[in-house]
Amino acid sequence: MSCKFNFSAGPATLPKEVLIKAQSELLDWNGTGMSVMEMSHRGKEYAPIIQNAELNLKKLLNLPENYKVLFLQGGAVTQNFMIPMNLLNKRTASYVISGYWSKRTFIDSQPFSGTSIAASSESINFTKAPNIDSWKYKKDDAYIHFCLNETVNGVEYFGDINIKNVPIVCDMSSTILSRPIDVSNYGVIYAGAQKNIGPAGLTILIVRDDLLDFADKKTPSTLNWKIQSENNSMINTPASYGIYIAGLVFDWLLQYGGLASIEKNNLKKSNYLYDFIDSTDFYINNIDKINRSRMNVTFTIHNDQLISKFLLGAEKNGLFGLKGHRVIGGLRASIYNAMPHEGVVALVEYMKEFKNTH
Ligand SMILES: *Cc1c(COP(=O)(O)O)cnc(C)c1O
Repeated sequence: MSCKFNFSAGPATLPKEVLIKAQSELLDWNGTGMSVMEMSHRGKEYAPIIQNAELNLKKLLNLPENYKVLFLQGGAVTQNFMIPMNLLNKRTASYVISGYWSKRTFIDSQPFSGTSIAASSESINFTKAPNIDSWKYKKDDAYIHFCLNETVNGVEYFGDINIKNVPIVCDMSSTILSRPIDVSNYGVIYAGAQKNIGPAGLTILIVRDDLLDFADKKTPSTLNWKIQSENNSMINTPASYGIYIAGLVFDWLLQYGGLASIEKNNLKKSNYLYDFIDSTDFYINNIDKINRSRMNVTFTIHNDQLISKFLLGAEKNGLFGLKGHRVIGGLRASIYNAMPHEGVVALVEYMKEFKNTH
């Protein structure tokens, strides 16, 4: 196999070791003579697969006892309406808008009355996330929603996010498991799997158990967190194969040394790339330094006519998925947990060569 690196934002690169293990078990899992794909989700063969996945996720996140893990479907965006259905209960809620995804989450909340904007950085083109001190919410809000890492814009919050009295609901799709977090600061955490966890089709939701009692009575069972929780995420068939792969990724992370170890590598990779971008005026990243994403590095070329040429040359060098999101253009290198440091080094080498020849 030639050496190729996939910088796609999602679905995204997975750890090679995980893919090799899945390949070796594809036809026969653990002597059962069945592929995981073929197993009944309620059978005795599948039970340890989902149980271990949940256990290892709890270990990685150091999850307090009073939080439940749900394995859902419909992607992160389906939570945009599941959140108000499960929490709003005729109350109000506030939304922080720090980029493309959190804006979309707010727009999707509008058919439910009572939601409003707590803060927005749209007027400065999402180059800096609204400071936590500037969030305007109500003391009796059902929740405050924000996105920890804006995948499209490359804007991430770091440091403590701690608000008393109002539960925080957080979209962590593109940064979950990239560094340790204190789960007890959050009421609800959710993430589409296809960035740092596994294949598309699985959504992880972590919810503090006292927040399971607010669902609107009209909420259908598959969309009701409490009913899903009472049925171990099996009110209908879950994304069973996706959960298996997620479990392998959790094992891989534990063997890596957990989230503190992967954070070191993520810091090393992102610093290497940002330091190179900052060392030239050929490439530009204009995100405020305190919010520069460690997972999604967005950049442009001083002459944007060169972008398509850059992408063509990158592919010739085995570097894929560097095109920026369709709504903002430019370039983006997504360097999730599974991207090795060598991938970032190869990208910087190509960027140097492209700069010198243009
Ligand atoms: C990818 C992404 C989404 C959308 O996820 P889907 O699974 O396609 O619904 C939402 N929020 C963030 C932060 C993302 O990175």
